[in-house]
Amino acid sequence: MGTVGHSRPIPDPNQFELFSVAAPTAPPLAVETLKNRRGPRHQPHGLVYDLQQCFDVINEVMFKRELKPPIMRWSRNRWRYTLGLCDVEKRVITMNTALDDARIPEMVVAGVMHHEMLHLYFGITEGPNGGRRFHTPEFRAAEKLFPAYTAVEEWLRDNWPLRGRPARKPRSLSGGFLSYLSMMHGSTAER
Ligand SMILES: [Zn+2]
Repeated sequence: MGTVGHSRPIPDPNQFELFSVAAPTAPPLAVETLKNRRGPRHQPHGLVYDLQQCFDVINEVMFKRELKPPIMRWSRNRWRYTLGLCDVEKRVITMNTALDDARIPEMVVAGVMHHEMLHLYFGITEGPNGGRRFHTPEFRAAEKLFPAYTAVEEWLRDNWPLRGRPARKPRSLSGGFLSYLSMMHGSTAER
């Protein structure tokens, strides 16, 4: 250690190395650190719903764990009509942050997640004229296999978009649609 005080510490090449900020040997930032830098809206944890948990249960129950986890995040802004987006090539699922609201039933968040996960599953299909097709007949058929498909459609038709103040209280993890889904399917996904 160099001395502390008025006299200059004796230069020590090893010590200099320790205090060098931009040392060329600095290890690359961990992925977690990079994720956290995007801010709270760019993480799967919302204020009410956790997209990671939602993905894990649906992946287990509906996809036999075949899907590799994508990047999941909430949109920065509230979207009026779009519920979720899936970038199939970059493997990013972005959910409308307006769905992170305790007034939204868990089955609705799960239904939107299932739809976006089907995009990962089917990928992009080429149409008869060379165009890109996303919602093929196979896609639509698979979408209807979601246990609450009709209930989610009806809820959205009758209630979406919600007006007024969002309810931001976290949901309890038990007793919701996802825990019911995993229980009924004997899932071992962590709740
Ligand atoms: Zn779609």
